[in-house]
Amino acid sequence: MEFCYSVDELPNAGLLVDDELEEQWVDNALGNILSVADEPSTIRGEIVPSDRNVTLNGSVQIQYRFQCSRCAEDAESVLSVPIKCTFAVGHEDERHGGGVDVDGVTESRHLALYDGSTVDLEPVILEHIVFKAPAFPICQDDCKGLCAQCGQNLNLESCTCQPVIDPRWAKLQDIRLRN
Ligand SMILES: [Zn+2]
Ligand SMILES: [Zn+2]
Repeated sequence: MEFCYSVDELPNAGLLVDDELEEQWVDNALGNILSVADEPSTIRGEIVPSDRNVTLNGSVQIQYRFQCSRCAEDAESVLSVPIKCTFAVGHEDERHGGGVDVDGVTESRHLALYDGSTVDLEPVILEHIVFKAPAFPICQDDCKGLCAQCGQNLNLESCTCQPVIDPRWAKLQDIRLRN
């Protein structure tokens, strides 16, 4: 995957990107909680010049593996990251207090600055992935997790533990009953 593009060499109608992301790069981007799976991760989209701006419009598909944060089982999933970013000519130090405003684009994820000759997609793609990567990945939406008392994986089998009621909640229940 090529991350840097010379603006002069971009076709006016835009350049189609359909590429694989390097495994090691993806693994680094995913951080400590997630790691890259065997299937390749891809990027598809287009890079379109308009006036002096350049727009990247596409999406990244990342196959990743992780340990479920509820039941601790190993699992795999796909992270689909839509990417839309406008590159405008400027320098980082022109950003005032967290945002320049170019054509109404204020969110930093949707706006990047470049030197007018070469756009570097890498930090933008990285930022989108970091923003979208789950901090508490779960194996399935309705993962029941582990029993807090006996440790049984409740997706596989239920246990006979009674729910422990926090004494503070018990007091609240009393009050509710009395009313
Ligand atoms: Zn789970
Ligand atoms: Zn239990």
